[in-house]
Amino acid sequence: MKSDTENKKSKKVLKTTADPFLIDLLKSSSPSGYEFEAQKVIEKYVTPVADSMKKDALGNRMATINSKGSPHVLMMGHMDEIGFIIRYINKDGFLFFDTIGGHDVGLISGRKVRILTEKGMVYGITGRRAIHLLTAEERKQMPKLQSIWIDIGARSKEEAMKRVSVGDAVVYDNEPFYMDNGLLCARGIDDRGGTYVVQEVLRRLSKKKMAASLTSVSTTQEEIGTRGAIPAAYEVHPDIGIAVDVGHATDFPDGDSNKLGEFKLGAGPILARGPNICPRVFAELKACAERLKIPYQVEAESGPTGTDARVIQMSREGVATGLVSIPLRYMHTPHELACLDDIEWVVQLLVEFVSSLKPGDKFEW
Ligand SMILES: [Zn+2]
Repeated sequence: MKSDTENKKSKKVLKTTADPFLIDLLKSSSPSGYEFEAQKVIEKYVTPVADSMKKDALGNRMATINSKGSPHVLMMGHMDEIGFIIRYINKDGFLFFDTIGGHDVGLISGRKVRILTEKGMVYGITGRRAIHLLTAEERKQMPKLQSIWIDIGARSKEEAMKRVSVGDAVVYDNEPFYMDNGLLCARGIDDRGGTYVVQEVLRRLSKKKMAASLTSVSTTQEEIGTRGAIPAAYEVHPDIGIAVDVGHATDFPDGDSNKLGEFKLGAGPILARGPNICPRVFAELKACAERLKIPYQVEAESGPTGTDARVIQMSREGVATGLVSIPLRYMHTPHELACLDDIEWVVQLLVEFVSSLKPGDKFEW
């Protein structure tokens, strides 16, 4: 075990800017069920290099290379992000909404938001009674969702309805930006980071000779129950499946390592172990990291993980499954924080994994 100082010395920041493909994904608005903009980014960067690009009724994007190869590897990273949906427009033109995916309700008010309408983007702000106007009791509590609204500056229901409709989706209006030490801050790195990784692996392997065939899927609706992954895993029918998602880093002031284990930004991909993971896939991923001298962190998951990996493993007759995660601080907040080196290392690790597979190896054990 290296001391902290040694670790610091050996830790070099390799990347300080991101691939434009990743930035375009992070700029897109892609709440679950409304992944239109992310789909366009995937098509722009991946369709030209893939042998085929399939879509389905759930909105998944499935790119394949070397389709005659074996084993057939599936990689999944979900392209949806958390957001909101407009439920009710009151007589004064204020919009009330529900959440799409898991939100910290305490963070919702006081934000600039994008409303995705059929006629294009409408900007608004999330309003709530000011702190001075809350009762002593209200100040102690988490706000109720119904005590927050979206203000688009309309003066009546009629005025608002000219611009927005019930059922329009909403996301926070934050743009990605860089921070010191090769860190990238953006909303929805969960899991546009993962969807970038699986498609970038396919892009890098598209000209390479290899035994395996690869289908990289940008799934939809993961945040509301891994829903896009279900038909996609069935359709792809792989031998081996790897989900790429984000994992909680614990390197912040009250990160609970006793509960979660210890995970740091910039300390490499997180490889999951546990019942959801095929032991041979884990062992092979670890061996690949060691061959490439990529640092890695191991996460224990006692049951089905809250990722597309849970769906992949139980698809059809069962699939040898792995899960690789990008360490992330502040998951499901408007400003998620990841390290560019970790993202690049996950890409390199999975390029090595797929290209080193032996013909026909189905990872039975
Ligand atoms: Zn998530």
